[in-house]
Amino acid sequence: MAATRFAPSPNGRLHLGHAFSAMCAHDFARAFGGKFLLRIEDIDGTRSRPEHVAAIIADMEWLGLEHDGAVVFQSHRIASYAGALERLKAMGLVYRCWCTRSEIAAALKHKPVRHGPDGPVYPGTCRGRRDGQGDFCWRLDMEAAVGRAGPLHWTDLVAGPQQADPVQFGDVVLWRKDAPASYHLAATLDDAADGISHVVRGVDLFAYTAIHRLLQTLLDLPEPVYWHHPLLLDAKGDKLAKSRLSQPLGELRGQGADGPAFVAALRAGKLPLGISITSP
Ligand code: GLU
Repeated sequence: MAATRFAPSPNGRLHLGHAFSAMCAHDFARAFGGKFLLRIEDIDGTRSRPEHVAAIIADMEWLGLEHDGAVVFQSHRIASYAGALERLKAMGLVYRCWCTRSEIAAALKHKPVRHGPDGPVYPGTCRGRRDGQGDFCWRLDMEAAVGRAGPLHWTDLVAGPQQADPVQFGDVVLWRKDAPASYHLAATLDDAADGISHVVRGVDLFAYTAIHRLLQTLLDLPEPVYWHHPLLLDAKGDKLAKSRLSQPLGELRGQGADGPAFVAALRAGKLPLGISITSP
C-alpha cells in the first residue's frame, strides 16, 4: 500500500506552493488507496513557532486535504535521531566539527573551493581533529560513508532511474550545534519510521535525495520511490517562498475563500493570475 507525507517546517506561513505540494502527496496516496501523513518538521527550535504549527493544521483542514492518523512531530522523535547518530559514530563515519561560519569562510580563502548544490563545500578542517573549544556539530565523513555504502541508485517517477552522487555535498552536518539532527537525518529516519513508500516533494529537493539514499543504505532503511513534483513560480519567475512573502494560505482562509474549490482549481491546472509552474 502506498504511503506519502506532507512535511512542512513551521518556520513561516504556508503559501500556494505548499498547497500544491500537499495536494500532490495527498492525491497520490488517495489514487492508490494509500495513506497520507502530515509531519511537522519542527526540530529547529530557533525557527519553529507554535503559531505556525497551528496555522499549518488549520490550512490543511481548510484545503480539505485530510491526513491519516495523528500529526507526526519531529520534536517528539529526537531519541531516534540520536540513536542513529550513535550508530554512525560506532561505524566511524561522523566527526565533531567546531568550526564557526566565519572560520569556514576564512579556511575557504586558503583552499581551492569546491562548489556543491548548497554552495561552497566544507573544507574538512575538523576531519581527524580530536578536540576543540566550545560547541560542535557532527559531520558525515562523506568519502568514508560512500566507500562503505557502495554505488547508490534511486528512482524518480518522472526523471527515471538516478545514480546518487552525495560526494558533491561534501561532509554534510548530521547533528547541528543549535538544533538536534539535521533535516537530512531526521527526514530520512522519519520516512522509514512512517513507512513512506513514495516520497512526494518539490523538485528543489531533488539533489538531496543522494544524501538520503546514502543514509538509508548506511542505516539499513528501506528505499522509497520518489516523485519530485514541479514548483510554482511567481510573476517574476521565482520559486514561491516563505522568505519572499508569497501570499499565505491563512490570508485566503481568513477572507473566507473556499479551500476545497481552491484545490479543485489547482488539480484542474488552473493557477491564480501571475503564477506559473516549472516543467515536470
Ligand atoms: N521540511 C521540508 C520543507 O519544508 C520538506 C522536506 C521534505 O519533503 O523532504 O521544505
